[in-house]
Amino acid sequence: MRVLHVAAECHPLVKTGGLADVVGALPQAIAELGADVRLLLPGLPQIADALQEREDLYTLGPLFGAGRITLCRGLVPSQSVPLYMIDAPYLYRRRGGPYQDQDGTEWSDNLQRFALLGWIAAHVAAGELDPTWAADVVHAHDWHAGLACAYLKAQPGTRAKTVFTVHNLAFQGLFPAAEFGALGLPREMLQSQALEYHGKLSFLKAGLAYADRITTVSPTYATEIATHEFGCGMDGVIRHRGADVFGILNGVDPSVWNPQTDAHLPAHFSARSPAGKKRCKQALQSEMGLAEEPDAPLFALVSRLTHQKGVDLLLAALPALLERGAQFAVLGAGDPGLEELLSGASRARPKRMAVRIGYDEALAHRLIAGSDAVLVPSRFEPCGLTQLYGLRYGTLPVVRKTGGLADTVVDAVDSAAADVGTGFVFDGAAGPELEAAVLRAMRFYREPERWRSLMRRAMAQDFSWHEAARRTLTLYDALLGVPREALAPHKPSPALA
Ligand code: ADP
Repeated sequence: MRVLHVAAECHPLVKTGGLADVVGALPQAIAELGADVRLLLPGLPQIADALQEREDLYTLGPLFGAGRITLCRGLVPSQSVPLYMIDAPYLYRRRGGPYQDQDGTEWSDNLQRFALLGWIAAHVAAGELDPTWAADVVHAHDWHAGLACAYLKAQPGTRAKTVFTVHNLAFQGLFPAAEFGALGLPREMLQSQALEYHGKLSFLKAGLAYADRITTVSPTYATEIATHEFGCGMDGVIRHRGADVFGILNGVDPSVWNPQTDAHLPAHFSARSPAGKKRCKQALQSEMGLAEEPDAPLFALVSRLTHQKGVDLLLAALPALLERGAQFAVLGAGDPGLEELLSGASRARPKRMAVRIGYDEALAHRLIAGSDAVLVPSRFEPCGLTQLYGLRYGTLPVVRKTGGLADTVVDAVDSAAADVGTGFVFDGAAGPELEAAVLRAMRFYREPERWRSLMRRAMAQDFSWHEAARRTLTLYDALLGVPREALAPHKPSPALA
């Protein structure tokens, strides 16, 4: 089976969030199960510069205002699957982020940049750009790759089946409807049951409308996005797709997130030999300028600083929690107002509250390893990866009961005498609810034996890419009519069991 994954970012080359972690791991995990998997990425500077054994396959004339476009194939370190890269310097080779410039403004030609990604995906899949390879399945990730599903649909005689994964329904790739003509798609695709969305056009909707199957990154989020509360205006489309929508939980890449081998840490540890975690905590307190108190409960937040992530809940709960002796270490970037409020709180209590604004992969690892607990108070969370990393590092998650957080963390208090708990779960998106959950965590923390038993259970959880890959492959099989096992319902998650 030949599978083409299409995405805009891929860890460790380009990463703005969990999407990159998934794209960096899932295709490889599927390849390990025997599929012939390839990855298609835009030629962003970090990707183009990392490409090795480059082979130019096809040069295209001007498309989407791109000037010279070359499709090439090669390999990048840390990825075992071959990479197709679209070398289109005019569209992709520029300073700034994958979607925004250095000031955080969306690139004005994102329509062209990601239309090209979708267009090339459809033509690679059809075997037109690499004469040695065509795809049976095209697996497109998030709105950036959504148009691949529309171009394939519009292509006469398309063989490849399509899967579209929603990593976050809130990011919809909206553009003025007047620009539809630039896409070169049939006129009827601008209808309301296709790309049209409240007078605009949406690349996300192209994936939702035209993919043969839709997946999202946790079973609970798959249910939530069919509701008005979580559907971001797309719930009607999701409901319409009914049984075509599946939730497949993300995993953790043990070559990147493993407390026994993590190269970013000052010391290593495991559930059996936890001493290194104490050293990580001491080093983190020192690095962040926090009071070096080994017994102060230290809570981490590693997150985009946005409304979605519930950062305001933390700000509301902070005064009371600082008063009760908690320490906080925050790493994140995003909404300037939230950045300033967090920084202000840190300036007021520097020994108890440390804040680093920015994106720092190595520090993220040290925060997850050195803290006692990690906060994920999101309003909605498609899967969430930081709580999974926390579990693996014995850093107990304090999470809101939503999306993938509800699927992966079991509340330590609701479960009889902490027999099955792996963290602390709260319901409402409100500061007092987070505050109560953190205070519960602090009560557990004061009973070291109880805390250690929670840590051991958390570290024993297995959220592997192997399981996600197996489920994804089963979905491909069903699409292609390969008679293997039917897609069984997701094994009840510990949180729902
Ligand atoms: P989302 O994709 O919505 O941002 P996820 O929890 O799925 O949230 O994934 C976030 C990923 O980005 C995790 O790997 C997390 O460690 C990382 N991350 C978030 N903010 C930062 C930051 N400021 N510096 C380093 N890594 C970060």
